[in-house]
Parts: sequence; structure tokens; C-alpha cells
Amino acid sequence: MAARTPGLIARCADVGDVQAAVRAAAATGLVTAVRCGGHSLAGFSTCDGGLVIDLSRMRQVFVDRKARRGRFAGGCLLGSIDVATQEHGLVFPSGVVSHTGASGLVLGGGFGWLTRLHGLSCDNVEGFTMVTADGSVVRANAKENTELFWALRGGGGNFGVVTEFEVKLHPVTSVTLGEGLCLGDDISGIVRSWRNFMPGAPDNLKWNLNLRVAPNIENVPAHVRGRPVASESVLWIGDPDEARPNLDHVLSLCKPVGVTRKVLSYLALQTMADDEFPHGRRYYTKSGYFKHLDDNSIERMVQALATVPSPTTQIELAYLGGAAARIASEETAFGDRSSPFVINLLANWSDASDDDANLAWIRHLFEALRPSMAPGIYVNFMSGDENDRVPEAYRERWDRLVEVKSHYDPNNFFRLNQNIPPKKTASQR
Ligand SMILES: Cc1cc2nc3c(=O)[nH]c(=O)nc-3n(C[C@H](O)[C@H](O)[C@H](O)COP(=O)(O)OP(=O)(O)OC[C@H]3O[C@@H](n4cnc5c(N)ncnc54)[C@H](O)[C@@H]3O)c2cc1C
Repeated sequence: MAARTPGLIARCADVGDVQAAVRAAAATGLVTAVRCGGHSLAGFSTCDGGLVIDLSRMRQVFVDRKARRGRFAGGCLLGSIDVATQEHGLVFPSGVVSHTGASGLVLGGGFGWLTRLHGLSCDNVEGFTMVTADGSVVRANAKENTELFWALRGGGGNFGVVTEFEVKLHPVTSVTLGEGLCLGDDISGIVRSWRNFMPGAPDNLKWNLNLRVAPNIENVPAHVRGRPVASESVLWIGDPDEARPNLDHVLSLCKPVGVTRKVLSYLALQTMADDEFPHGRRYYTKSGYFKHLDDNSIERMVQALATVPSPTTQIELAYLGGAAARIASEETAFGDRSSPFVINLLANWSDASDDDANLAWIRHLFEALRPSMAPGIYVNFMSGDENDRVPEAYRERWDRLVEVKSHYDPNNFFRLNQNIPPKKTASQR
């Protein structure tokens, strides 16, 4: 969906290389993309004819087990961090697909299995090292360049190239996971139960629902394959004995089929969705938040399954709350913490000739849901045709972000992102 042909790719090995690449591109006015994991749904980490600053050689991770702190370089994938931190029995809260880049995910916010217990990824960052548009290196933390520290926690790649993150780590090595599939009338029923249950759920419990067509795979009962389902994943992080009654309760709220319960390693959890999102597939997404998820919106989503054009497309339903919601909204630039229901309409298909059908299905469903959504959007779930929604993503934080952008990148050198344009200077008017 975002196949482009850069003129030059700078495969940077260290901060000095990044500085040299930024200075050379700025001096010649070359359009420049920054690439960590390359998962930008909008295709921002590549460009036609310009420069790509590719950070994939910068994947070092350092762990201080005793202090439960870590540092990782700007080209790390989530998997690079998971493998290194698990050697010490620690985790950095991030996303659910291990080949996603950490930089893009963390700079936009970052949520995954541990968000309710330990907060967003950006809430767990204590310091950034960044190369600015003039090629200098700055540090941002609670004491140095505090406005930049605020902006980098949610404001995306707008301000410069982050070459290192200093982060908090938490002890987790295994988790308990329950899974099941709800069919027929139970699909709407389980979404309503989920909506009613999650606001009072303990932080250790993460319950996600995916509305989709059941895949044709071994662990799905044969009579269910190809039928619309609500696929539920109920995760307990903590003592497995405590997990049992909590998982049993959730899995008894409807009559799921193909139910499994297992204790699995953190690394297994973090890689179990990898194959569903392979490189080279076509993806398109639209998402939004709900303060309250009304029955009408639930019915629209469930009914849309009847016409879904691709068997790998999913309507992802997640509930934030927990630790992420306890951080005050003005503490970071991240878009929204007050609307806990996050809905992500994620089309996933293989053939370019099916583009129109898949895009139309997502857009149609989104338009139907939008009137019930709360204003706001998570920047990392935005496609490339939604630039008009960037101010909506930040709302009351917008002016402050524009100030930070204007200070660190007055000429908008870093513009291949969900862009926050700087104020126009006198010479630009
Ligand atoms: C399969 C898949 C699964 C996903 N799962 C999750 C999930 O579980 N949770 C979640 O929160 N999000 C998830 N996302 C969304 C994800 O957070 C964004 O796509 C994110 O931008 C990916 O980061 P990246 O480094 O791979 O992207 P890239 O395409 O490399 O970069 C994305 C943006 O960040 C900028 N950027 C990259 N590196 C740097 C840097 N070092 N300094 C400054 N700017 C930089 C780029 O210029 C670009 O604008 C997923 C996306 C996909 C495709």
C-alpha cells in the first residue's frame, strides 16, 4: 500500500551517522523519511526520490536488572527489546506484534497487553536522546528540555530522530491466557458484557475482543471456520491461581466454543499475533474512541461482519483504563485517556485488485460509527488519508505541541509523520 522508491537510504550505525544524514539532507532540502520498524500504516517511513534515514542497524538494548531500568536504541523492534529484557525477567510495556518498531510505537503512545497494569509505552519512558533538524543532539527528561520531554510522549516523530530511549522495566515472565469464540447472537451479547464488565475490572486483567470471520486453522473447531465470531482473549498478568477464577468468570459470560486456558511465557505472548500481520500484506485502518459504547454501535459492527470482504480483516475492541487512565491528561502529549473504549477497524488483505472493496468497507463502517464516537484518535492507528484528523488527535494539547515543534523544527524538516506544522516565521510568510 505504501511502495515508494527513495533516492538514497542512509543505514545509520550510530548517532554520528544520523547527525551527518540530517545535516546533509537539510542542507540540500531533500525530503527525508525516518524509518524504525517500517510499520507506519500511513507509509511515512519511506518516500519517493528523497532520503530514508534507516535505523535498523541501531538495535542495542542495555538492561540494569537491579534498578529495573533499560536503554534501547532508536532502531529497535519490539522483539529486540522483549528478548533482551526477558533475559533479566523484565519487560517494557509495548505492543502486540513483535516486528513493530519501538520508536514509532512509543513516540505515538503505545499500547498492548500490559497497558492497564503498567501504562502506555510512553508513560514508561524517563529520557530521550534526539538529533534535531540542525543536526545537534539534545536530551529530554524530567529535568532537561522538559517541554520536549512532554511532547515526545505521544507527539510522534515530529521533533527529530530519537536515537535512544531510557525506560522503566517491570518484572513479568509468564501470563495466563484464556481464549474462546462466540457465535450467533452471542457475538452482540459478549460485546455488551465486555462493555459492562471492563470499567470495574482489575488492572491485571486485559480482555480484548476481535470481531472477524473465524480462520481456517487447526485450533478453530471445523464447524466454526468461516463464520462470523467474536474472538476473545482474556489475559491475567500475575499469580496463575488468581487468574483461574477471573478467567472462568469472563469466559462464562457467554457460551464460547474452542475455549483454551494456558500459562505461557511472555515471549510467546508477544509473538503469538506475528503471523497474522505478515510483511507485504495490504492494510488499511480507521479508528476512534468511545466514552460509552452504545448498543446501536455494537449492532452496526456485528452486522458489518456479514459483508466483510477479507477473512483476515478484524474489528479490534480494546479497553484502556487502569494505569494508563491514572496519568493526568496534561502530563504527556498523548491524545486521549478519558475515553477508554478503543475501536480499530483493521482491513488486512492480499490482492491489490481487492483494494477498493476493502477500503470502502472500512470507510462505510467508520462513517456509520463516527457520530457515536468521542472526538479524538490515536495517531498510530491513522492511515495516510487522515491528515485532517491530526489536530483532532491532540485537541487542547495542539498549541503547546506547535510551540515545541516551532522551537525544534521551525522549517518542518521532519514532516513525514502525522504532522504538527510549525508556526510560520516572518521569512516564510
Ligand atoms: C502489524 C501492526 C501491529 C501494530 N500493533 C500495535 C500495537 O499493538 N500497539 C500500538 O500502540 N500500535 C500498534 N501498531 C501501530 C504502530 O504503533 C505504528 O504503526 C507505529 O508507527 C510503528 O512504528 P515503526 O517504528 O514500526 O514505524 P515506522 O514506519 O518506522 O515509523 C513510524 C513513524 O515514526 C517515525 N519514526 C520512526 N522512528 C523514529 C525515530 N527513531 N525518531 C523519530 N521518529 C521516528 C517515522 O518517521 C514515522 O513517521 C501496529 C501496527 C502494525 C502495522
